[in-house]
Amino acid sequence: MKLILLGAPGAGKGTQAEVLSEKFDIPVISTGEIIRNALRQETTLGKQAKEYIDKGLLVPDNVVIGIIQERLNQDDCRNGFILDGFPRTVPQADALAEMNITLDKVLAIEVADEKIVQRMSGRRQCAKCGATYHLQYKPPVKESICNVCDGELIVRKDDEPETVQKRLEVYHEQTEPLKEYYKDKGLLVVAYGQEEIKDTISEVFKALGVG
Ligand code: AMP
Repeated sequence: MKLILLGAPGAGKGTQAEVLSEKFDIPVISTGEIIRNALRQETTLGKQAKEYIDKGLLVPDNVVIGIIQERLNQDDCRNGFILDGFPRTVPQADALAEMNITLDKVLAIEVADEKIVQRMSGRRQCAKCGATYHLQYKPPVKESICNVCDGELIVRKDDEPETVQKRLEVYHEQTEPLKEYYKDKGLLVVAYGQEEIKDTISEVFKALGVG
């Protein structure tokens, strides 16, 4: 299964990607996570990306295309993968097509902007290991402490309200056209995000035609 997850920031791509990864036993490739790890480790990529990510802007295409090319060449991607957060622009989608990868489906998860803004305010992430939480939907066992490594839970800088607005704008302008792009290729399926994660999972399975 080679699958792309499309959707606004906060639509639940990451959560659904984890569920699908377990179901199909294939890795999730999240460009956002790769970039945030680079930020934490202060690598060259991290330093390059910081000014964009902090403002809610997209990192330049050539940088993310390079990251994806390298990652998809690794052995664990041979039987399939789930792309979470890539492609995000038409040039990125074209670059993926040039890598001669046969996609099975592109799943768009739809959530209204007002709902996204409300949801993003509850997101938290471990400053040490990057594990993600949500105050309402996926709370940590101990308040503000990571279940995995005891690190401190923080609000990602790009989850702050002004940056969320900018990310939504960028999504509508640059990423949403990909729905049409993949619809034209006959690959697009749509699932509507629900209030409860388990209900969204059902919608996603239905859209993908899996039980
Ligand atoms: P995400 O966690 O997927 O919302 O990504 C967080 C941030 O990483 C985005 O707001 C962008 O700045 C950057 N980013 C992640 N994936 C991409 C991509 N495919 N193209 C450009 N920038 C990206």
